[in-house]
Amino acid sequence: MFKEEHLISTSYGTTSLFAGLIKCGECGKALTIRKTNAKCPQDIYACVTYNRHGKNHCTQHRVEFDALYNIVFDEIKSLAKQTVDAEEVARSLADAYEQEREEQKELLERNIAKAKSRIETLDRMTSKLYEDLLSGKISESIFGSMIEKTKTETEDLEKQIAADEKRLSTNDSESGNARKWIDLIKDYADITELDADTLNRLVKQIVVHEEITEGGDRNISMEIHYNFRPTDESKTYNLSEVAEANSYAKAM
Ligand SMILES: [Zn+2]
Repeated sequence: MFKEEHLISTSYGTTSLFAGLIKCGECGKALTIRKTNAKCPQDIYACVTYNRHGKNHCTQHRVEFDALYNIVFDEIKSLAKQTVDAEEVARSLADAYEQEREEQKELLERNIAKAKSRIETLDRMTSKLYEDLLSGKISESIFGSMIEKTKTETEDLEKQIAADEKRLSTNDSESGNARKWIDLIKDYADITELDADTLNRLVKQIVVHEEITEGGDRNISMEIHYNFRPTDESKTYNLSEVAEANSYAKAM
């Protein structure tokens, strides 16, 4: 039913439902869609680096459009159904999550303030050490080792502040996401098909990994990351198994 509709021809080629959302887990570039040359051509995605530059640069990361579509469709529907079926539980989890985020925020702010005030103290200590050196209160070797210590401590504190500020800004950007996610996902429990609008609203990124075993088997897996979903606990789908199941079903 979706087979004929998901490819959209544009002046610069063919684009697809998942354009911009699906990427290679190894090289980080996009997976692009094309038709296979088989008797019954299939739409498949493959890593653009592999397509353009060959196997020395990345591996194929082959994903059949139909398999991808089915997995994403099923997962969105099931996440939506879970949320609708247990909305009260979901909301109280979201509240707990938001509270934890708030507490984390306060802790980070306290740590940053403490580190900044310690740096000020260390600055004052440094000035005092110079005074003591000049007035002959301390020897040059003691001065040297004290200065070294304050310098190291200041540098460590500055690193800690930078890391905490980064976490704080992530924390701020996630404010309210847990509740937003519930409001967003619960509208999709009864969807009958995926469209670009739904995907762009819900999906942040689909990451495809390919691992080639020592025996030469290709293990292809993927995970779906969502906008606003507070706990990014993506399920990993093994696409090699899906492909096998499909060919098995066709052979029967
Ligand atoms: Zn790649």
